[in-house]
Amino acid sequence: MQTSFTEAQLADPEIAVANDILRTCVHCGFCTATCPTFVTLGDELDSPRGRIYLIKDMLENNRPAGAEEVLHIDRCLSCLSCMTTCPSGVNYMHLVDHARAHIENTYKRPPADRFLREVLARILPYPKRMRAALSLARLGKPFAFLLPGQTILAKRMRAMLSLAPAKMPPAQSLGGTVHKAVGETKGRVALLAGCAQQAIAPSINTATISLLNRLGIEVVIPPAAGCCGALVHHMGRHEEALAAARRNVAAWSAEKLDAIIVNTSGCGTVLKDYGFLLRNDPMAAQAAAISRKTKDISEYLLDIYAPTEAAPGITVAYHAACSLQHGQQISAPPKLLLRKAGFAVVEPKDAHLCCGSAGTYNIMQPEIAAVLRRRKLDTLKAKSPDVIAAGNIGCLTQLAGDGIPTVHMVELLDWMAGGAKPAALQSSVVSRQLSEAGSI
Ligand code: SF4
Ligand code: SF4
Repeated sequence: MQTSFTEAQLADPEIAVANDILRTCVHCGFCTATCPTFVTLGDELDSPRGRIYLIKDMLENNRPAGAEEVLHIDRCLSCLSCMTTCPSGVNYMHLVDHARAHIENTYKRPPADRFLREVLARILPYPKRMRAALSLARLGKPFAFLLPGQTILAKRMRAMLSLAPAKMPPAQSLGGTVHKAVGETKGRVALLAGCAQQAIAPSINTATISLLNRLGIEVVIPPAAGCCGALVHHMGRHEEALAAARRNVAAWSAEKLDAIIVNTSGCGTVLKDYGFLLRNDPMAAQAAAISRKTKDISEYLLDIYAPTEAAPGITVAYHAACSLQHGQQISAPPKLLLRKAGFAVVEPKDAHLCCGSAGTYNIMQPEIAAVLRRRKLDTLKAKSPDVIAAGNIGCLTQLAGDGIPTVHMVELLDWMAGGAKPAALQSSVVSRQLSEAGSI
């Protein structure tokens, strides 16, 4: 694609990157067929190619974002399915990240929109605040139907309340802890404990640590490490995201580590991009080293996982989180591990399409998210699974509550290696099948 940035514009390193990305796009349109928003809405401006044109026009003309760009870029899930499909290697992720920061800097959103985004940015990255908010949301959930009308604000509030768990899990605070290996120590890793995940499903970190320890791996969670910055990054709050990245890079660089383990794949995609995000920062070299050391839990376990329990005889529908399959190009390892653990693994039709979770997307774009959730659940359930497994807390929350238990794949792996049975499998149907299979 031809671009017409001036020399002065190209002196800005961010614009120079955007220019390079735009020039790789040959506007073939292959990406449209695998874009969830184009598939759902059928509007070219809700396709990757359409958004690329909007971004190009906005940046080349050096003008503030307008309502049209904001509408269509806000509708983008950042699922990165388009990057998997694109034959030209267009780095849509970096382009849309730049566009989001441009919107944040140049566009004044309506007051209710600004307020909600501010609330989300001040609560979600902090586990204690998140837990308090979830407790409040649980109280409000039965009264969600009282929220007036079909305004976007009412829909967003209902969507937020719907994410509150039926029962609050125990509080988890892992910062500053070290978890020794069982037996001989074969490795030492840091675990990104996650922010929302610690509040919603602490059992995922517990299973991860327990499994790694039994495999001979020491796990450390440095006290200064915190949220990865993904949530604010996807809101265009660039400086806040950079601050989170710097804090984590400093915390992990101070430790002697073989790897930084991530069990929330949405965060993993951002950690693997720290090297790019901080490329012009004094911490650039350290950030690049941290990105290279970052491993999704499924990548790290692939060579060392060894089940110890008898095959449970249940069928797992594996839902591939977009951040894992598109953001990190990790497709086979989670399925190989689940099969190694003895599970029958099935996959839904159109596994490349997003479930609609996408960070805060299911709150900010509740209508599109609801369509994508329904489609994903229907295709998963068509495979008659006993349980749905994924590698990302956002997807698990999005797919919960429709009759099939949802668990993180590491909880299943831990269980089959001598760890605790996942609480989600206490449901009557799965328990009965497990009992009949002689597994409990
Ligand atoms: S598939 Fe790639 S090159 Fe083709 S239009 Fe989409 S982004 Fe551009
Ligand atoms: S990131 Fe996902 S929603 Fe956004 S343009 Fe690409 S495929 Fe479409």
